[in-house]
Amino acid sequence: MKKILITLLTVAGIIGGVYGFIHQRAQAKIQANSQHTKLRVVTTNSILEDMVANVGQDRIELYSIVKRGTDPHEYEPQPTDISKATDADVLFHNGLNLETGGNGWFKKLVSIAHKKFGEDVFATTKGIKVQHLTTNKDEPDPHAWLDLANGMQYVENITVALQAKDPKNADYYRQNADQYIARLEKLHAKAQTQFADIPEKRRVLVTSEGAFKYFGAAYDVTPTYIWEINTESQGTPTQMKSVLAKIAATDVQSLFVETSVSPKSMAKVAQETGLPIYAKIFTDSLAQKGKPGDTYYTMMKWNIDKIHAGMSHQ
Ligand SMILES: [Zn+2]
Repeated sequence: MKKILITLLTVAGIIGGVYGFIHQRAQAKIQANSQHTKLRVVTTNSILEDMVANVGQDRIELYSIVKRGTDPHEYEPQPTDISKATDADVLFHNGLNLETGGNGWFKKLVSIAHKKFGEDVFATTKGIKVQHLTTNKDEPDPHAWLDLANGMQYVENITVALQAKDPKNADYYRQNADQYIARLEKLHAKAQTQFADIPEKRRVLVTSEGAFKYFGAAYDVTPTYIWEINTESQGTPTQMKSVLAKIAATDVQSLFVETSVSPKSMAKVAQETGLPIYAKIFTDSLAQKGKPGDTYYTMMKWNIDKIHAGMSHQ
């Protein structure tokens, strides 16, 4: 009798242990899932990352692929990028061949991550009036965000996608977007008249890549460049000759170099013309967090102010 009782207790103990173990595992799983109640969002670059952060704030989990200070035209996705893209609820890319020029890295990533364009992958440039490359009229110029009016359209597109994927926070996203767009609108309105005090022959912006087509049209400055797009071979003798001739035909006071390209070619232009490189400006990437120009708003404000000061400089 005693023996049977001990056996029963032992069996009960084992069952209890097993049950405890299963229960613990279930609890751990619930905890792991609850960490992911937030919408998981992936962006291709830091400019889109900052726009999405402004709309989603602490209600989303955000990961951005191309690191700050790095050119987003050509990129090789890393294992972390692939796992983040696979787990994402929504992915944002610029489109207009920013990430699909050259090696087409983003298209490959989307297919590896089993995501679908239009379902969980969205272009922030939807609805934007596209400008094309002068060297290749069939190719869109991707740098639309350098006109703040387009930036506001990006934020609109981001907001609509976040609302659709996460309807319970739709009002929250709308409210954040409205506040953010109002700030961008103010900066845009000021910039539209800011360059009017500079004579036209000086209102010429010299950069390495021809990223300022949209900016030039919005703020009435004429962009000039060494090479048109970062996926081309850069600073060839023909390109150097051409930019020097364009500078000679104007009254340009200073040169600019972008933070995400090599400054070598522009240094050569400075040497040849005797013009100073007035400042570094932002095109395809934000500054490191904590540095000036680490948000879309401050990057645009920095560019507008530095370009204006450089054109006034003599
Ligand atoms: Zn670019």
